[in-house]
Amino acid sequence: MTESGLVGAAARVAAGDRPRCCWCQRPLARREGPGRPRRYCRQSCRQRDYEARRRAAERGLDEKEIILTRAELEQLRDRLWVLACAVEDVEGDLARAEDPAEVRAALDWLLEAARPLRADAER
Ligand SMILES: [Zn+2]
Repeated sequence: MTESGLVGAAARVAAGDRPRCCWCQRPLARREGPGRPRRYCRQSCRQRDYEARRRAAERGLDEKEIILTRAELEQLRDRLWVLACAVEDVEGDLARAEDPAEVRAALDWLLEAARPLRADAER
């Protein structure tokens, strides 16, 4: 598994204090030797950050402000809401679970709710 394939707690532990991508916050691979330190994990992050900063500059926004479409924001909120509901369900399910199959079913539901967010993070 590549480092960029790690998710969640594993990625945080692996990241330590390492620098992160300016766009997606994924930990950056160390690069030895001369040259400027990397700021992005991949070209698509560099491009998205550039586009966001250009849009912000066109509208006179601060560097810390970005513009999202309403649809992007609503999709993110929807996915977070689904995940929050799943966490609540799974907490209850795990408290009542009496066998491994029930634990497995609870975790499957949690993963199902979380996967769209993971896909967003990997875009
Ligand atoms: Zn990135």
